[in-house]
Order: sequence, then C-alpha cells, then structure tokens
Amino acid sequence: MRAPAGLVLAVGPRRSGLSTTLAALRAALPPDVALAPDAAPDLLILDPPPSPAAALSAIASIPAGCRVFSSLALERAAHVFGHFHALGLPPALLARDLLLVVAQRRIARLCPTCRQPDRSADLRQAFALATNTWLHGVTVTACVPFPGGCDACAGSGFAGHALAYECLVVDSGVRALAEHGSIGLEMEQALFAGGRSLWDYGLRLAAGGVCSLGALRAAVREPG
Ligand SMILES: [Zn+2]
Repeated sequence: MRAPAGLVLAVGPRRSGLSTTLAALRAALPPDVALAPDAAPDLLILDPPPSPAAALSAIASIPAGCRVFSSLALERAAHVFGHFHALGLPPALLARDLLLVVAQRRIARLCPTCRQPDRSADLRQAFALATNTWLHGVTVTACVPFPGGCDACAGSGFAGHALAYECLVVDSGVRALAEHGSIGLEMEQALFAGGRSLWDYGLRLAAGGVCSLGALRAAVREPG
C-alpha cells in the first residue's frame, strides 16, 4: 500500500462487501503516502463493477501516478489476469501495475447461541484432505444451524455474516508467472495451495463453527 501508484482490486459477486473492503484499504494508507502534496488523486471505482472500457481507461492513468481502487465481478483473485488478457491487456503489463487483489464472499454466520455440532459423514469427507495437510492438528468443531433458531437470532439460526477471502499480493513471483503466461490454474496452484485459497479460508471458518459447511458451499465453489 506504500506504492505511489498502482491498481488495487476487490473481486466477487455484488453485495459481498467489495466497496467496504476498498474503502478500508484506502483508509489504511499511511498518512505520509495519502497526503503527499504532489500525489495524483486516487481513482475509486465502486459498485457496480466498471465496464471493460472504463476499467482499461482507469488502468491507463496509473503511469501518471494514480492509485486506482476498483471492484470487479470475478470469482477468484487470479482470474483478473485472464479477464484483462481477454480485453487486450497482456498479463505481464497488468502485473507491472497491479498491487493487490482481494477476492471475497459474505457467508451467513451461525447464531452462536443456538448452533449445534455437525456430526455428518459429509462434513468429515469435506474436511478429510485439509485435516491431512494444512489443517492438520486443528480441532474441527463444525456446526449447523439449530432448526427454528432461538430468541437471540429471531428463529433464523443465523446472525450476521462472516467474510472469507483470498489475497493475491503482486510480488516478483507473481510477475514471473505473468511474464511466462502462467495465468490460469497454474497461477492459482502456485499462489493458493496449502490453505491459502478462498475455499480454504471458508473451511477455517467452518472448522471453528463460525459458518456451516452448507453456507460455505452456497457462497464459495468447492474445489475438485
Ligand atoms: Zn439462535
């Protein structure tokens, strides 16, 4: 975020908190960076996600010293390379200006007062791969909503939302992948293996009983 210019993207479906994430990232700019007297203004493009032409034109202002914050309706963080490649922007050029991509989903949060343990075989199967690898040693206390809820959640079984996300921080490794054209599954596997993907983050929430496996599946596509 200390970079004087560049592109910051929040991606996901509408109503998943993209504009809130972008506003929070801008608010977190170090004061000396945010208030530099000769700095070009930030361009903030919020919901709805911009048209392809508007997005490309905003990116064109980055060499002039602009920080551009924008939302895009994409499923995963690494998809930005394919998205802009299809619009005529080569991955290596995008990687030069791109600073950060956050992909996120809002997931219904279980009511902490009435949630009940999930002892289904389906749950054990969904967690098997993760608990054998990156989630090893974590006690899974997954829960499901209590049918009919309670007074605290007005009978819904849910209380607010939790956020699952994945971050693509553009560093020399990402730039090298982009330069070699490794922008699809190859990039995803290189950057988000070992518990760093959107699904994995959601699985952590489910392991802690914050959201149910069902609510996670409703918000994030299950891999494989
Ligand atoms: Zn409740």
